[in-house]
Amino acid sequence: MRRPVIAGNWKMNMTASETRVLLGQLKASLAAAGDVEVIVCPPFTSLAEACSQLRGTAIAVGGQNMHWEEKGAFTGEVSAAMLKDLGCTCVILGHSERRILFGEDDAMVNKKVHAALAAGLTPILCIGETLEQREQGVTQAVCRRQLEGALAGLTAGAAARLIIAYEPVWAIGTGRTATPQDAQSVIGYVRAWLREAYGDTADTVRILYGGSVKASNIDGLMAQPDIDGALVGGASLDAGEFTRIVRFEVQDR
Ligand code: PEP
Repeated sequence: MRRPVIAGNWKMNMTASETRVLLGQLKASLAAAGDVEVIVCPPFTSLAEACSQLRGTAIAVGGQNMHWEEKGAFTGEVSAAMLKDLGCTCVILGHSERRILFGEDDAMVNKKVHAALAAGLTPILCIGETLEQREQGVTQAVCRRQLEGALAGLTAGAAARLIIAYEPVWAIGTGRTATPQDAQSVIGYVRAWLREAYGDTADTVRILYGGSVKASNIDGLMAQPDIDGALVGGASLDAGEFTRIVRFEVQDR
């Protein structure tokens, strides 16, 4: 059994003061989160506030990005050790906004995955195709290229520590969600790829769906056999929405 994960990607939202308010609400509403792993990923400037407020609770904190080097002349960057020292347990890597807006390629994401694991952080590796690629019928090929690139040189033992988020770019922040069947079909492919690369480790890796997940569509997504949770953008900024997403209801899984 894979433990479900619901992770909130706050992107460039929430000052430290706003973080205090939102986390106050979430701590109350998620005091008993059940058997779901809950993660929030605030911007760098709110991480210290989040880590100190959430210490000793069941809500974990992650970064949204990091550099692969340990330290040095990399103005504006933060390292895995800096995230870890604050109390972060995981970090989003290879988000499509990083790839498209900031030029991250698979080789950079690969270095980040290795650095995060070496520092004891769980990478939440994002992959997914653009609308153009989906229309060209190359969704699986794009996901395969991103997986091969990001995970190059990783052992099965290291791969077991990953969380992967399949996030079709056309569904991010657009209000357009992949149907549960579409999401299952690609995520099933990702698991099959993991099985080819790492054998039975494929059964332990949590694979999330991301892209306009809301309280109103989470139940259908979580009913799919290979979908182990969600990476949630916009809806994670609203305590009520996010709480309902964490408390997804599945009849037959
Ligand atoms: C994301 O950015 O990871 C995301 C899934 O965003 P949204 O839920 O807003 O589409």
